[in-house]
Amino acid sequence: MSGNLAVIGGGLGGIAAALRARAAGYNVTLYERLSQLGGRAQSLKIGPYKHDAGPTVITAPFLFDELFELFGEKREDSVKFVALDPWYRFYFRDKSVFDYGGSPAKINSEIERYSPKDLSGYNSLLKHSKALYKTAYEDLADMPFHRLSTLVKAIPTMLRLRADRSVWQLVGKYIENQNLRRALSIQPLLLGGNPLDTTCIYSLIHYLERAHGVHFAMGGMGAVISALEKLMKRHNIKVVCNTSISKFKTVGNRIQSAVTEDNQEIEADQYIFNGDPLFLYRDLLKHSSLQVKIKMSHKRSMGLFVIFFGTSQKFNQIPHHSIWMGERFSGLLRDIFDHQILPEDFSLYIHRPTATDPSFAPEGHDSFYVLAPVPNLRAQINWKAQAPLLAEKIIDALNDNEMPGLKSGIRNLRIMTPEDFKEDYLSVDGAGFSIAPTFKQSAWFRFHNLSESFENLFLVGAGTHPGAGVPGVLNSAKVVEKLII
Ligand SMILES: Cc1cc2nc3c(=O)[nH]c(=O)nc-3n(C[C@H](O)[C@H](O)[C@H](O)COP(=O)(O)OP(=O)(O)OC[C@H]3O[C@@H](n4cnc5c(N)ncnc54)[C@H](O)[C@@H]3O)c2cc1C
Repeated sequence: MSGNLAVIGGGLGGIAAALRARAAGYNVTLYERLSQLGGRAQSLKIGPYKHDAGPTVITAPFLFDELFELFGEKREDSVKFVALDPWYRFYFRDKSVFDYGGSPAKINSEIERYSPKDLSGYNSLLKHSKALYKTAYEDLADMPFHRLSTLVKAIPTMLRLRADRSVWQLVGKYIENQNLRRALSIQPLLLGGNPLDTTCIYSLIHYLERAHGVHFAMGGMGAVISALEKLMKRHNIKVVCNTSISKFKTVGNRIQSAVTEDNQEIEADQYIFNGDPLFLYRDLLKHSSLQVKIKMSHKRSMGLFVIFFGTSQKFNQIPHHSIWMGERFSGLLRDIFDHQILPEDFSLYIHRPTATDPSFAPEGHDSFYVLAPVPNLRAQINWKAQAPLLAEKIIDALNDNEMPGLKSGIRNLRIMTPEDFKEDYLSVDGAGFSIAPTFKQSAWFRFHNLSESFENLFLVGAGTHPGAGVPGVLNSAKVVEKLII
């Protein structure tokens, strides 16, 4: 293929699409509004501490390998991945602890220790997850889904897999222990969905993790982005940062140009948009065909509240990834997703990269980020007032439980709220992951990878098929590759 192609947005989906388009023969230029690439996967340096701002868990390393292989290169020559063990530790309020991950034998013995009656149920859940993976991941994740006929063909499979059932319902069928049931249901939260409502298709993640492991990139996701940026430059993809597109000019059903904030017109034969599709159709195209109108009302994912900090001491008892489960589960999720109120309580994800990679903090110190799912900006929350209060409550809870001494050791604290997602990534309603991954917002019902209305505009990233998360957006770039070829 030849011709000029402009990618707008340098998130992981945009970068992967740029690489795939280049390998297919296009002259590619990538425009990003921020000063660095990566989008949600950007990295932060706060004082002497390094942080990944977003994704930390790599579950499908082969999708990164493929990007280097497009150009006859090996990923491991540019960035090293290490397999983690355990994948996650769960801390419960009854003071029990459950380590998930590692070898199959280790997982089985940990389940046997924690809840022996659930061992056979867990293995049945895994079998079910494998069936979901084989169909929903291997057959459908990188398949274009913009034609209604594709959906019609997939319906019998969806029905057979009971895709209308939620992750919570599926796990509940196999697992009795309440803590374990919660632990094995949280995956949708990593993609912006409520486990109580998210289609059980996402339970395929259990098998994905089992088949490929859970990895961390040495140097963090920042090192991955930097390696991909160098790969783009080696293969003559032009990267232009600090450039925000503020509208598209159209003629009939084609995009004529993308116009920057300072009124420069960018002309190309094809355009790939990597920002939030809600923002694209509402603000950049001001377009509202019936199909788009329906999708504009899709339920948004939740918001994220993230605290980044260093500590002047080490917390060696805390592994790389932990989930700190609050007292409530369903009630908390309903408050965040349905009632849209900021609850008094919380559940947390704790990232301690210094458990694996000492480069994130000075010697003898740790680097952390702690994340709590919260309502998006559709809720009327005054984040300026609430953010410091919530941060203090979270730090107190950790200090009083698993991390004694934390409070006095904290250094260089920074807070990110849904307001920052709106401001930095132009995410509509400050949603952490664009639209939510419900059954009625998946596949054909999600924003299409070939624009609903313009024949030379393609969409890649979290709001499009197959969905959010690193594997999701890297697969959406594979879909776009098929469409532009
Ligand atoms: C805190 C957090 C933790 C996460 N953890 C994990 C995890 O551990 N594992 C996992 O798999 N997933 C995780 N995710 C999800 C995953 O990070 C995202 O789904 C994925 O990175 C989104 O990629 P994307 O391609 O949609 O682009 P984004 O990251 O959304 O990037 C889009 C880019 O487009 C740019 N842009 C937008 N509009 C314009 C415009 N008009 N002009 C120019 N540029 C524009 C934005 O500035 C941005 O850089 C996490 C997400 C967050 C926020």
